Amino acid sequence: MTDVAKRSSRAPVPSGWEYAPAPEARDIVRIEERYGLYVDGQWLEAKEHYTTISPSSEEPLAEIAQAGPEEVATAVAAAREAAENGWAEISPTERAKYLFRIARILQERSREFAVLESLNGGKPIRESRDVDLPLAAAHFFYYAGWADKLEYAFPNRRPRPVGVAGQIIPWNFPLLMLAWKIAPALAAGNTVVLKPAETTPLTALLFCDVVRQAELPPGVVNIVTGDGRTGAELVRSEVDKIAFTGSTEVGKAIQRELAGTGKRLTLELGGKAANILFDDCALDQAIEGIVNGIYFNQGHVCCAGSRLLVQESIYEQAVAKLKRRLKTLRVGDPLDKNTDVGAINSKQQLEKIRELVEAGEAEGAEIYQPPCRLPEKGYWFAPTVFTNVAQSYRIAQEEIFGPVLSVLTFRTPEEAIEKANNTPYGLSAGVWTEKGSRILWMAQRLRAGVIWANTYNRFDPSSPFGGYKESGFGREGGRHGLEPYLEFE
Ligand code: NDP
Repeated sequence: MTDVAKRSSRAPVPSGWEYAPAPEARDIVRIEERYGLYVDGQWLEAKEHYTTISPSSEEPLAEIAQAGPEEVATAVAAAREAAENGWAEISPTERAKYLFRIARILQERSREFAVLESLNGGKPIRESRDVDLPLAAAHFFYYAGWADKLEYAFPNRRPRPVGVAGQIIPWNFPLLMLAWKIAPALAAGNTVVLKPAETTPLTALLFCDVVRQAELPPGVVNIVTGDGRTGAELVRSEVDKIAFTGSTEVGKAIQRELAGTGKRLTLELGGKAANILFDDCALDQAIEGIVNGIYFNQGHVCCAGSRLLVQESIYEQAVAKLKRRLKTLRVGDPLDKNTDVGAINSKQQLEKIRELVEAGEAEGAEIYQPPCRLPEKGYWFAPTVFTNVAQSYRIAQEEIFGPVLSVLTFRTPEEAIEKANNTPYGLSAGVWTEKGSRILWMAQRLRAGVIWANTYNRFDPSSPFGGYKESGFGREGGRHGLEPYLEFE
């Protein structure tokens, strides 16, 4: 035997293919001990503070300002001053330049933002790096392009900015939701006061540094942090428009509060989307889409495909493939580049997921969770599939906002439509079939603002996004996304 052959015969036979840890370095991010409020281009000290943590380790990260009524009023006054004395009047080409600058700076600093987003929110770095950051920058690029073309976007309608926009965003896509809100508002000539969610303020606060770097005039972007009370103050304040993304419950409360005030409102609320699998679909591809549809961002996605409707003839096969795929998902450290499913955003959200999962078991659904070791510290929930689900079960009706999928079956396209539309929500849906005509037939009948065909969770700044029924009203993205920020003659 040659030396080479001898050596290779002695080489250990690998027993498995484990992933080695691949943590992203944290040192690119500098977190202050304490943050103020970003108002009129300056940091304003607040009277009260709370601690923001990392949900994957419960490690305290920083002290965050809790803005009260006076501080919110100061921010709104600064935005008003900026709107009336300059921002709306500068040439649209100049406005576009600022937005292009912000987009470029976000690209340049994207690693820093991605690490901070995963640290504060618990989402896998792979997602914040490859989805949230590129899309946030793309939104600013896209709306920068519209800033000097509003007359063409709305011909013969003489568009004018609305004035000051109050914007309230949730914790599932902190920087991306900020981009969805701020980019169209600024492109249309408005100024903004934005409130990030209580649990995920850090990337919005880092964004203030981008605003400074881009030399945006003071008062055009103001960031006020705090919990729901700060949001409620912003709704009550002297703004001209409220743009809200969050729960249907809070959305309804805001709608009641604003009724009769003349303030404009757009609401992007919850969802309970159906991902519909026909027996002629490319099943392996569809399984990838279903997994992406519900386990992406731990299921903290308003348009998550949280109900899977499978045609009865492929039910056994689809569920077997799905369970096999679930076993390969890696749950753990959000900063590890191999992680597929990160931490649940907060203790409160974890409790809500647990409550609904317990309700699903009590009502008679069959639960499956792949074997996985969850970290001891932090907030975690294993990817979960429920089979044997009836339409009346809470897990088939309520938004869980976690990595939990409910599987139901159907026989005919008509039944699929009936079941898919049987929800108070109407945000999104997915159709998996090889027949183009069936896709169009389904899309005409599904009551959902966004319908994906043979894919899921695809976003593009040029494409409008929004819902029907209890999923809200108004559209974000695309030319449609400018309209709520404009008045017409
Ligand atoms: P909320 O609707 O409470 O939060 C969304 C934003 O609104 C946050 O910035 C929040 O502040 C703020 N807010 C809370 N109360 C008020 C108020 N009275 N007036 C104005 N603003 C307010 O969602 P939660 O975080 O409580 O999540 C609860 C459930 O909502 C989730 O389990 C999920 O089902 C759903 N949800 C849906 C989202 C979507 O995109 N469709 C996004 C987030 C949640 P703060 O965070 O500081 O309380």
